[in-house]
Amino acid sequence: MLLGLIFLFAIGLALFVIYPMLSSRDEEKSTLPVDVTPAADLKRRRMVVYENLQDLEFEYQARKIAPKDYEALRENYRAEAARLMVASRELDRGTAEDRFIEKEVAARRARLRDRAAESYVCKKCGFNNPVPVKFCGNCGSPISNPRA
Ligand SMILES: [Zn+2]
Repeated sequence: MLLGLIFLFAIGLALFVIYPMLSSRDEEKSTLPVDVTPAADLKRRRMVVYENLQDLEFEYQARKIAPKDYEALRENYRAEAARLMVASRELDRGTAEDRFIEKEVAARRARLRDRAAESYVCKKCGFNNPVPVKFCGNCGSPISNPRA
């Protein structure tokens, strides 16, 4: 009987220890959605720091925390918030640069395409050969390619 109780207690204890590990792992999974962007992550972390700052302020007002500790923690949170804001700004600038580069590349490709198209317009009959050719598809005259 006593042995049985000890056994049950041991199982209970084991579950008590193991269960939070399992549930916290699930929680971690649910708080980390697959589609979280770096920008959203930085913003979320900044919001957490602001909440911590508010809590700290509240605790200080309630005299639950020593002024010295309050000052130190507040400095830490402010530095963290500033760091996250700088990171967000740099990320924004990075994506702006990416957009600029993509636009430049697209414009350059369009120019190349236009130039390529010009290259295959027949000088004799004016036919615009749609693909790179050596001879005009309409009149058979040689196409001089200014790019080559
Ligand atoms: Zn032609």
